[in-house]
Amino acid sequence: MKFGGTSVGSADRIRGVAERVRERLALRPVVVVSALSGITDLLIKGARLAYERRAGTEAICQEIRARHHEAVAGLVTARAARDRLTAHVDQIVNELQAFYVGVHNLGELSPRSLDAISAMGERLSHEIVAAAMVELGLPAQAVDARGLVITDDAFGRAMPLSAPTEARVRERLLPLVQQGTVPVLPGYIASTREGITTTLGRGGSDYSAAIIGAALPVEAIQIWTDVDGILTVDPRIVKQARVLPEVSFAEAAELAYFGAKVLHPATIKPAVEKGIAVGILNTLNPTAPGTLITERSAAPSGNARAIAFKKAISVILISQPRMLMAYGFVARVFEIFDRHRTPIDLIATSEVSISLTVDDPERLPAIEADLAPLGEVSILRGMAIVSLVGQGFVRQAGLAARMFTALGDINVVMISFGASDVNLSFVVKQDHAEDAVRRLHAEFFEKEPA
Ligand code: ADP
Ligand code: ASP
Ligand code: MG
Repeated sequence: MKFGGTSVGSADRIRGVAERVRERLALRPVVVVSALSGITDLLIKGARLAYERRAGTEAICQEIRARHHEAVAGLVTARAARDRLTAHVDQIVNELQAFYVGVHNLGELSPRSLDAISAMGERLSHEIVAAAMVELGLPAQAVDARGLVITDDAFGRAMPLSAPTEARVRERLLPLVQQGTVPVLPGYIASTREGITTTLGRGGSDYSAAIIGAALPVEAIQIWTDVDGILTVDPRIVKQARVLPEVSFAEAAELAYFGAKVLHPATIKPAVEKGIAVGILNTLNPTAPGTLITERSAAPSGNARAIAFKKAISVILISQPRMLMAYGFVARVFEIFDRHRTPIDLIATSEVSISLTVDDPERLPAIEADLAPLGEVSILRGMAIVSLVGQGFVRQAGLAARMFTALGDINVVMISFGASDVNLSFVVKQDHAEDAVRRLHAEFFEKEPA
């Protein structure tokens, strides 16, 4: 059972989490929790401020301390446990202050340091949630995921190493579960074999749940969040969004990859490989049936199932009249992105040019410099990818026409269709993204009866 940031955002919410776990004690749950909502953002913001030598890190430390003290005070009444936890919060926040001072003084913020800083939210939250559960009479025990979930050293988006992870998760967690204990682990954080703290990328607690679940003989992985499951679109953008009772692994992966924040993109893989059912459930509405991720889609072929979108995308155009069709050109372009470890989302090519999108702007200047010798390079920033996800798109006549008609006068910069049977994606200016999403939703999901 994985509980996201909003599910553990306050003392009241954490009590709700304990209830959900209590109801399932007979199923022998293992619990994974995110940081309290907003804390990871604050930790990273503080790191940037320290790096830029700007004021504000002190206030951030105070806020983080206060949020956690408040949660502890609202949850743990046993004096000894409360004092121990409050001291633990203070100790981690003091460590954070020292890190910020270090970053400020050295004027250096490596991905490794940033991971040590951004890991603090989950280090705090899992201890508090475990203590709250004990206070509420559950046999819970905090277990640090570092040392269990083992990754490479790609700080900021580390990849799990399945053999050591599986061995350690089994060795540490199975005996606990067998004796009736509920282990409570931090999501998002992991470590290298050498014990250096890593993180799995933003939103990575879902991934942690899938990695830990896949390493154990579990029946199901439950992702508890703040919406009723996977909906036809982000309900924050379109009120008319509808819950999808079942979504296939392929559809869910595609949605997640193209920006539906409800699931971390990599979550599905470890679970698929083991054939484990993944459910998305709502802590705020625990009796709602939620969404079940199934192996194959039950939806009729040719139907649109959901819309996802992703902002802050950059489009890179490389044109080279003499070279494009020449042998090796595309390979050279890809090799540059590979070298900068920057994934490409969409690709479109013409006789003399190639356009690509990336959502990680960090390496863009360096990539641009490396691409320059290959042709004329231009970059469009502040773009968005909008994706229609479904089944059997390639065999469906009229789908693209319907989509473009719905978009009306919104300017489409790039299209990608046919790479997979389940996705039709296009790029618009970021400012037009929400409008585009609403128009598509009205066309594809608000016309037919539910
Ligand atoms: P958690 O903290 O539980 O991990 P997230 O904020 O990461 O929660 O993900 C849940 C959010 O995902 C929802 O509040 C919703 O706004 C957003 N979301 C985006 N697309 C979808 C979708 N298609 N279905 C459901 N939620 C979506
Ligand atoms: N706390 C981390 C984040 O905000 C991981 C997560 O919530 O899944 O990205
Ligand atoms: Mg999330």
